[in-house]
Formats: sequence, C-alpha cells, structure tokens
Amino acid sequence: MSEISLNSCCNAQGELPVDLGRKAILEQVAPLVVVESVPLLEALGRVLAEDVRSPVAVPGHDNSAMDGFALRFTDLNEEGGSCLKLVGEALAGHPFLDAVPEGGAIRIMTGAMMPVGTDTVVMQEIVTCDDSGVHIPAGIKQGQNRRRAGEDIALDAVALTSDTLIKAAELGLLASLGVDRVLVKRRLKVAVLSTGDEIRAPGSKLQLGQIYDSNRFSLHGLLEPLGVELIDLGIIPDQPALLEEAFAHGASEADLVLTSGGVSVGEADYVKDTLERIGEIHFWKMAMKPGRPLAFGRIKQSVFFGLPGNPVAVMVTFLQFVLPAIRKMQGMKNWLPLTLPAAATESLRKRPGRTEFQRGIYHRDEHGAFHVSSSGTQGSGVLSSMSRANCLIILPSELEQVEPGESVDIQPLML
Ligand code: AMP
Ligand code: MG
Repeated sequence: MSEISLNSCCNAQGELPVDLGRKAILEQVAPLVVVESVPLLEALGRVLAEDVRSPVAVPGHDNSAMDGFALRFTDLNEEGGSCLKLVGEALAGHPFLDAVPEGGAIRIMTGAMMPVGTDTVVMQEIVTCDDSGVHIPAGIKQGQNRRRAGEDIALDAVALTSDTLIKAAELGLLASLGVDRVLVKRRLKVAVLSTGDEIRAPGSKLQLGQIYDSNRFSLHGLLEPLGVELIDLGIIPDQPALLEEAFAHGASEADLVLTSGGVSVGEADYVKDTLERIGEIHFWKMAMKPGRPLAFGRIKQSVFFGLPGNPVAVMVTFLQFVLPAIRKMQGMKNWLPLTLPAAATESLRKRPGRTEFQRGIYHRDEHGAFHVSSSGTQGSGVLSSMSRANCLIILPSELEQVEPGESVDIQPLML
C-alpha cells in the first residue's frame, strides 16, 4: 500500500487504523534469506529453511499398541471364545523372529514388533491363561491394537515443510526420523535501546526527576522467547548526535532496531528527526490507545521501530506491530496475534476514534466459554495493570461502550 493511499485511510487526527498500519508494516518487511545448518537441539525456536522428507517410516514396523497377546485373527472362532497355544514372547527391542504356527499366540508388550503372521493384539486384561492355553473371549476385531508401519509418517513423505517454527513437537518429530542436523534460517538480530535523559539503569541511584528503565527489560522479556539474538545498546540520552550514532550502530549490527521513548512531539523527542536524517520514516501516528506515536522506517538494510515511551504502550505496540513483523522476518507465513471472543463481565467504556487495548483478565467457564473483566487502572504508564492482566481486550475504533454480557475480542498474553 502506498503512503498516499495510507494517508487517505487516516482519521480526522491523521492517525492510521491499527490493522492498516500492521498491513503496511508487513508489506515492508521481508523474510531473512541466510540459512545455516545446526545440530538438532539448537534448532529449537528456529524456522526451517527446507522441507524435511522422512528417511524412514514412523513407526518403522507394525507393532503392538498394548500389552497383551498377538495372534492371527483367522485362528479365532467366529462365535464364543477361543483357546490358543502360547508359543513365545515379543518385547520392545526384542522381536519374536520365528514363524508363528497356526493356532499359536505370542505374549507381546507395547511397542514390540508384530510377529510375522499375526495381525491382531488382544489386551491382557481380558485374557486368561492356564495349562490348557490362552483363552481369548469373543468379539475381537481384526487388526485391533496394532499400529501400522508408517502410520505416523510414511517413508519419503514431507514430515515438516519449510517455514515451520521448530517447537517441542517438531524437535521430537525430527528426532523420531533420525535427523540430527537441520537447515534453518539465521537467527534474527534485534538491537534494543531506551532513550531519555531521565532514564537510569536499575541498580543505579536516582537523582530527582529520574526513573528506572523498564522498557528495555520488558522488551527483553518479549523478545527472548522468540529465539532472536538480542543486542542491548543501553540507554541513550535525548541528544540528536548520540541518538544518531546509536541508531547507525544498531543498524550496522542488527536486522531490526527497536527503541522506546522520544517519538511524541515534545521538546526532547528526537527519534523521528534522527530517523528522517539517516534513514527513511514511513509513518508515526496510530489510531490506538495506548501507543499512538510510533515511528516505523528503515536505516540501510535494517528495519526500525521507534516505540512510544510509556511502558504499557511499549508492550502493546510491540505485540501489535513488532511481533508480526519479527515472525515474518523469521520466515513464518501469515502470522498474526491470536484473538478469541469473550463475554464482558462488566461494562467497558472508551472514546470513539481509536482502537483501545485495555488490559483484561479472562477465564474459561465450565461450559468452555470465555469471560473477561478489566484488570483495573488503565494508564499507559501503569505496568502493574499489564502484570495483573492475562489478555488485552481489543475495543474497536468506533465503539464507545460494551455492556455486560456483550462479546469482545481478547488477545491472550503469551509472552
Ligand atoms: P517520551 O515519549 O520519551 O516522552 O516518554 C513517555 C513517558 O514514558 C515518559 O513519562 C517517560 O519518562 C516514560 N519512559 C520513557 N522511556 C522509558 C523507559 N525506558 N522506562 C520507563 N519509562 C520510560
Ligand atoms: Mg523521552
């Protein structure tokens, strides 16, 4: 979408709707192309850069799903019970290799290979054994309790496609194929810095009017689980020359530069001007609360996000804009934050004109339906409201009020 058509979508205050802003941002970022081969355990949290075909069938052989007795279904009487002769034993890793004679049964354990000729397993709980043999009740179905070779993954089938995020299940799946190295996208490098003359690192002594830097820490917390490589550029004072140097340094090291503070129109807000000077800026006002000012642009090959300074606004804008952009840059397709419908348990108010992201607490009732209430004070500097919340309540731009029982969209907080 061109900036001209974006401008025509803005509201009377020249602010861009959240979904259009996100769409425009996603159009401007591209997936990483550099790939590397890593040992399996290091692939956790990375994105596959190739389709993985299975070099084996999983499972590799027909095997028993139960502890019980393996037998040939055709040896059973059609009506009434049957008595078979116990001829051997098969354990996982210790197959029974001889031919099973007609009328014979094999004691078998879960995961053991089905002996040649047998096709059915009867669970041990319904079988009795005595000197006369193995007594099988009526009502057995052919093939029951047998897992077929290749039923999870067939030989040479595509087990995982390129662009898949490797999580716990994928790690186990790759291991089950015997794969010990995989080709993945390079880790995304993200540089983070805080701006502000009043901002000090935790651990230092505060002078009058100074505050501790929380944004770099909540951003670390949001970024770490995404499997990115973090570059911490610290706190930069409100001085154009120092900001310029830090931005250029960040852009030379990282794929993405994330700053907080200094993007409003106050006297010490130099982020926008600096970005304009050394890179390109696309837009900087979103029709949302919290988080209205947002600089998005580029410095050389690096993507740049100038997030607002208020701690809640930082987290909310990160979740709406930066997270989808990171997922796309990492190589994932069509990644968007999960939203669910929930019934409001109380009335919620807002002013029309901007999408509001209120902090909420949701729960699921005994029928499986979601309900949500406000997590309390909603100031964009009130980080404790974020800590108490387990979701964001998304109230659309034109809405003014939600009555108890009405449905709203919530975005569970998972990072
Ligand atoms: P700014 O947009 O720079 O004026 O910042 C808006 C508000 O957020 C101000 O109250 C700042 O003091 C506060 N703020 C900015 N950066 C941080 C930070 N890193 N940690 C905590 N608060 C911050
Ligand atoms: Mg500031």
